[in-house]
Amino acid sequence: MRQENIRLPRDAVWLLETLHAAGHSAYVVGGCVRDSLLGRQPGDWDICTSARPDEMRTLFSDQTLILTGEKHGTVGVVLHGKPYEITTYRLDGTYRDHRHPDKVRFVSSLAEDLARRDFTINAMAYAPGEGVIDLHDGRKDLAAGIVRCVGDPTARFAEDALRILRALRFAARLNFTLDPETAAAAREARDTLQTVSAERIYAELDGLLTVPGAGRTLAQYGEILAGAVPEVGPCIGCTQPGRWHCHDVWQHTAAAVTELDLRGQDTRGARVLCWATFLHDIAKPLCRSVGPDGAAHFRGHNQRGAAVARTILRRLKAPGYLIEGVVGLIAIHDAPLPTGDVAILKCLNRYGAIFLRRLCALKYADLDAHAHTPEVACRREDVTVFENRMLELSKTGCYTMRQLAVNGADLMEAGLPAGPTVGRVLHDLLGAVMEGRVANEREALLREARRRMQEPE
Ligand code: ATP
Ligand code: MG
Repeated sequence: MRQENIRLPRDAVWLLETLHAAGHSAYVVGGCVRDSLLGRQPGDWDICTSARPDEMRTLFSDQTLILTGEKHGTVGVVLHGKPYEITTYRLDGTYRDHRHPDKVRFVSSLAEDLARRDFTINAMAYAPGEGVIDLHDGRKDLAAGIVRCVGDPTARFAEDALRILRALRFAARLNFTLDPETAAAAREARDTLQTVSAERIYAELDGLLTVPGAGRTLAQYGEILAGAVPEVGPCIGCTQPGRWHCHDVWQHTAAAVTELDLRGQDTRGARVLCWATFLHDIAKPLCRSVGPDGAAHFRGHNQRGAAVARTILRRLKAPGYLIEGVVGLIAIHDAPLPTGDVAILKCLNRYGAIFLRRLCALKYADLDAHAHTPEVACRREDVTVFENRMLELSKTGCYTMRQLAVNGADLMEAGLPAGPTVGRVLHDLLGAVMEGRVANEREALLREARRRMQEPE
């Protein structure tokens, strides 16, 4: 067998050497071994060891330690500002609630520790000199692109239902598929995901939705995902009119997630867009009606979708910015865009450029997941025209009170009495500027303000 050499960070080597020198066995384990073998840069380097937490505390007493996980066998050692988690070999015990092990039991062998891990690709360990310890054929599954439970998948999902979602997350991230037995067991056990805490579900779903391979995984495993978000279920097989669509609602959603282009978005914007695209048509099954012509309609699915998305995201305890961002986008994702500078400036005033850029990204993703017809191409062109002009006006136009060439103090100096009138006049001036009736110049604005003051209320 080929002897892989994994390049460890100096600090990880030091931790392993220190543990070895004290007579313990120790390995880097899990995600870092998987990612290294795939030629990817690991996020963290987790270590497992025969040392007990109290022994680790003594051994690393000169370092900053994080002891919040000590009960579960984990001691965090901070080296050069980076925390390393070192965990005693352990068994997870039983999972009566499908959530957390009732108790952990420390064990003496690496083999037992590897056997309690979720997937074969996550159950490998490595130490310099010894090479990769691969007792569950993780390397074979890595090479074949397969996510497979360690041991009997039904039993493993019964222990911890979150693994169902983790399987999808790794499939999306690594562009892998689920081993058929693992997939069948996941589908069978999907409803037990309802027993897992919202925080854990949210974290895994977020990890799944924000990687480039998410759309493919959604397309393939919608039924499994419906265990975590039951509203997905009715989208599967919900047919749409052929004039616009070549997919049912769910396959369209998955295709839109694949099409989503996140270039130019910041981290928050990207997250908001991934979730908004995932949920943009979530209320279509609720709004579906069939017209006299036999074609399906989805009237009101924007607003209804926004409400359903809010319910889902609240249930998952998603952060407030995500809920507001997603709900705002879904509420108008399918509404026509304004044309003409006045309407675009008013749109900028109401929503802001950041929101409108996100809206365009969602619209492109949505349209690119439609049938490729001239009508759809035309709608896409409308988005491009709007986006270009909106971006230009966002730099050159005046659409907020702060951009006006006068402020409240200027108006009061010109004779306007202090009080709410100042705000109202500024608001009216902004309206006049956006409508092109007054130039955004100090003298012109003061003249207009005086004229308004003389008008009866
Ligand atoms: P990532 O790069 O996403 O952090 P990871 O493999 O490091 O991937 P973690 O969630 O950090 O994933 O978990 C670290 C390791 O712990 C996993 O590789 C796996 O071996 C084990 N593990 C984590 N969660 C579970 C679980 N629910 N059941 C069994 N083993 C788990
Ligand atoms: Mg990790």
